[in-house]
Amino acid sequence: MRVIIHVDMDAFYASIEQRDNPVIRNRPVVVGADPAGGSGRGVVSAASYEARTFGIHSAMPISTAYKRCPHAVFLPVDTEKYCRVSSGIMALFHEYAPVVEAVSLDEAFLDVSGVQRLFSGAERIARTIKERILSEHRLTASVGIAPNKLLAKMASEFDKPDGFTVVPQERVQQFLDPLPVSALWGVGKKTDVRLAAMGVRTVRQLRAVPQQDLESIFGKNGGSLWNYARGLDDSPVEAGRQAKSISNEHTFARDETCPEVIADTILQLSEKVGFRLRNRRLTAKTITFKLRFEDFQTLVRAKTVDHPVSLSEDIYAAAVGIYGELNRERRPVRLIGVGVSHLGESGGGQMSFFSEERETREQLSLTIDEIKKRFGENAIRRGPRY
Ligand SMILES: [Mg+2]
Repeated sequence: MRVIIHVDMDAFYASIEQRDNPVIRNRPVVVGADPAGGSGRGVVSAASYEARTFGIHSAMPISTAYKRCPHAVFLPVDTEKYCRVSSGIMALFHEYAPVVEAVSLDEAFLDVSGVQRLFSGAERIARTIKERILSEHRLTASVGIAPNKLLAKMASEFDKPDGFTVVPQERVQQFLDPLPVSALWGVGKKTDVRLAAMGVRTVRQLRAVPQQDLESIFGKNGGSLWNYARGLDDSPVEAGRQAKSISNEHTFARDETCPEVIADTILQLSEKVGFRLRNRRLTAKTITFKLRFEDFQTLVRAKTVDHPVSLSEDIYAAAVGIYGELNRERRPVRLIGVGVSHLGESGGGQMSFFSEERETREQLSLTIDEIKKRFGENAIRRGPRY
């Protein structure tokens, strides 16, 4: 039998900001784009629990958040700071679990089956981790312990914030049955609506639907639904699994038409993505560019390169190339995004097929990264290249 711990930090970005600034503790805090007095056009990245009582949640337009609570404290996203805190917490997990899968900056699965064959042992580990996160980082986390990832994640979600929920094998069905189907993996809005139309709102009701019926309605996802309703999930905790992609986007305050401003924004986004990529010692084979016009028409195009890249200028070259093709008519631009995927580890050997000039540029890139790590991401900025 497996023993999996899922640790999920509570309102991570917002909690870090509240921790670092006593004045905003107990106040609604929204981390994300500039609300610009209600006319801001980006989104919410994180909302403190105080902000959530106003109906504010992440991924919501920042203008909606502002409408719901204009007196909230609105703060910009400080990715670099959150990364630093995250590294400390992830390091702590590795002290207790042989296999750790970081899902995002604030969330990880720990497989302790090898070291703790009983749930009581896992509970002790999880309690210690929670206490150390609180004493060493002054932050709270919610923890779930269960025989697989699906249930561990649902358990950590169950009693947020500062939760601690254990679901041993013999209580799996008792735990799942009363929950709404939307609590299950893979049940998004669409599936939820379709299930509701079938009169299925709880996991107990879902369990009564024959597997064949689910498969004929939802295809292969139907099979997963059938399994999840029974708490069945055999996906492994994968150590060192990296994010599959890295991206950054920017919403212009006004629809942008100036080619120089757009090019410079693509450059800054490429630099942000490149920094994150190199920081994790990764390279990318695919560069993705996202373009949203004033009428919200959104285009996404990807370009795959022959040799994996990590330099910001290589990302920029691909991104700006795609942009040129997508916007020949120079329509006003609302949003642009730059991303990379098909990530791989950057081996030391790959420098060899770079020319001497490339090596110099690589060196320059590393120096810039070093300055950013020491003085913050805004300490240095590439000049425009047009
Ligand atoms: Mg979280």
